[in-house]
Amino acid sequence: MIILFGPAGAGKSVQGHLLAARYEWRWLSAGQLLRETKDTAYLEAMQKGEFVPDEQIRSVMGNALKSAGDIAHVILDGFPRQMQQAQWLVEARGEHGRDISAVIVLDVAAEVIEKRLHIRGRADDTAESIDRRLELYREETMPIVDYFTGNNIPVVHVDGAGTVGQVHDAIVEELTKRGVV
Ligand code: AMP
Repeated sequence: MIILFGPAGAGKSVQGHLLAARYEWRWLSAGQLLRETKDTAYLEAMQKGEFVPDEQIRSVMGNALKSAGDIAHVILDGFPRQMQQAQWLVEARGEHGRDISAVIVLDVAAEVIEKRLHIRGRADDTAESIDRRLELYREETMPIVDYFTGNNIPVVHVDGAGTVGQVHDAIVEELTKRGVV
């Protein structure tokens, strides 16, 4: 499996869709799976930019991973966001059956992110929610990169500030170098 990593607005979903379409892989977005549940408790947390409780997101993600069982690669978008989620991915390999082939970190400056989210205009893209999501990314999600590196999982930084096509090409180049595609 490939993990797309980066703050809200970095382009994880767009890039995840493109990769999935190009290689016939499954794109699994934690946020999208949560929105599809229509669970009001989840939607309330999401509207504020807070995390959905760990146990729930793990169960949603675990089921989605199981249902993608026969597909060569899955692309995780927005998961893991907390250390215990990352530990679960690495330690519960027997449960979900997948190794992590690469972690792609999309690096994008804060000004670019704010502009993109403003244009996107999703219901949870309010000023307060954006601030909270970026704060949680810095405090809880970023430290996961070191955890992956410490577990010998390849982490690749890609400049996410270019056009959709440029970023896609840069990701494909990195995946090619590592023999994933
Ligand atoms: P996204 O679609 O990736 O922007 O996610 C939208 C929202 O879903 C986030 O702001 C969180 O409220 C929630 N969410 C998504 N992924 C996770 C996760 N891995 N852990 C906890 N909450 C999540």
